[in-house]
Amino acid sequence: FLVSFTVNKKHLCSNHPSITSTNSPHLSLHSSLAEMVFDGHLSFENIEHMAKDFGGRYRFMPSAVLNPKSVSDISSIVKHIFQMGKTTELTVAARGHGHSFEGQAQAHGGVVINMESLRVPEMSFHTGKLPYVDVSAGELWINILHESLKHGLAPKSWTDYLHLTVGGTLSVAGISGQAFQHGPQIDNVYQLQVVTGTGEVVTCSEEQNSDLFHAILGGLGQFGIITQARIALEPAPKKVTWIRALYSDFAVFSKDQEHLISSENSFNYIEGFVIINRTGLLNNWRTSFSSKDPVQANQFTSEGRVLFCLEVAKYFNLEDSDHIDKDIDTLLSDLNYVQSTLFLSEVSYVDFLDRVHVSELKLREKGLWEVPHPWLNLLIPRSSIHQFTQEVFGNILTDTSNGPVLIYPVNKSRWKNGTSMVTPEEDVFYLVAFLSSALPSSTGKDGLEYILTQHKRILNFCGRSNLGIKQYLPHYSTREEWKAHFGTFWEVFSQRKSIYDPLAILAPGQRIFHKQR
Ligand code: FAD
Repeated sequence: FLVSFTVNKKHLCSNHPSITSTNSPHLSLHSSLAEMVFDGHLSFENIEHMAKDFGGRYRFMPSAVLNPKSVSDISSIVKHIFQMGKTTELTVAARGHGHSFEGQAQAHGGVVINMESLRVPEMSFHTGKLPYVDVSAGELWINILHESLKHGLAPKSWTDYLHLTVGGTLSVAGISGQAFQHGPQIDNVYQLQVVTGTGEVVTCSEEQNSDLFHAILGGLGQFGIITQARIALEPAPKKVTWIRALYSDFAVFSKDQEHLISSENSFNYIEGFVIINRTGLLNNWRTSFSSKDPVQANQFTSEGRVLFCLEVAKYFNLEDSDHIDKDIDTLLSDLNYVQSTLFLSEVSYVDFLDRVHVSELKLREKGLWEVPHPWLNLLIPRSSIHQFTQEVFGNILTDTSNGPVLIYPVNKSRWKNGTSMVTPEEDVFYLVAFLSSALPSSTGKDGLEYILTQHKRILNFCGRSNLGIKQYLPHYSTREEWKAHFGTFWEVFSQRKSIYDPLAILAPGQRIFHKQR
């Protein structure tokens, strides 16, 4: 239907302490957009929420928000802006669940496309030797999990949190504890449908338009808007044994992690995290895990220490019940964790995969979910990880981490080549994720400024010491930094941009390319 046109006077998000940009440079262009006809609708008002993200630090107001009901809605608006050429600075940001951190899904004065309103096609499952599901790119992974399980199937590779969209995670990579075995989510996609920066709708896969396919996967939204994805599935297990064990020595911890990711018959999920100066840690675990050795575990203190926790999981079905404990014992017998700190829990597959949502609900109750999240995600080559942990956990983060710090290795030799994701050069590298939350009005060690300064110290150390790291979910402000991030891949990346989005209309919030008038 035809959208009635009203100029939104509220182009600013007031009373927000973070980086807020106000004046829209594009008011004169509203009328041309307002005359367009869509299956869904284009809104110019009540769109402030589209200038928010999980990071909570950047707020760039768009001029309009498109709630598409068809792929042609997305194609029409991109084509329209493309055809206006250099007469407009208007840009377009696809927004999944808005769970990025630095305004990546925002478009200052541009059009935000609310991908979650695109509900076509309905999820369609194909069983057989290589099962898969076709989904709309605005679909949340949690919904795909629930629907797949009705067919006894599930995707192979996940993120730790499932309330993210397919388009959002395929634009970055999608890494979790299954990536050592299956690669990130971008390695588990058979086909995509994409709207490029010229408005063209293209189907791509390894066999068809493969250059675009590779460009899009991990491409930070630069080459097209993913509208549909064909996701690889596998038979889903019913149950999971979820295990945690502590280490006080990083060398022993990382040796065990690396052993596990390279073994043939290993756990199905391998991660780990750092514990900095926590009290009552094992007591907290007792509500959901049982200790193998409760008496000894009682004696163990975590206070004032840096500890490393191995977190692994083994999937199983009821018919495996008679041997699963033995299989797990065999795997654990190779490891050198502090014996009294072994904790196990048996949960359903869904409860395991959706575990972060439980924390979300608790944090929401306390008003601690919608706070600034200055997250820093790094990929660190194996050869640098010891130097990194020594400095970071020995000198920089010594009192507290202000949130979980994940640390686990993956083996790139099992990953596909050719996507847009940039990783360190070595085969084995670690994901180290500082998942900090800041208290909005604090000026102390739990405040935003303090946390950002810590992250800067970490990055400066990595740069000074030439550790060969790459940022995951990268965020830079200058072209030089982006070039350094992509390294030798920059030529290909920027060439692809000139082919698939020649006017730099798409994903302006990544701040890699800028639309010129
Ligand atoms: P958005 O934030 O909406 O968008 C992110 C970027 O992708 C933007 O540039 C946007 O323009 C672009 N984009 C969105 N949809 C499309 C589309 N259809 N086509 C093209 N471009 C598009 N990541 C991991 O890898 N592993 C984890 O374990 C993990 N855990 C997380 C836990 C939490 C609590 C949070 C908040 C994030 C986590 N992330 C993790 C990061 C997350 O995967 C990324 O931030 C992801 O991009 C967010 O998805 P989204 O749907 O919210 O995307």
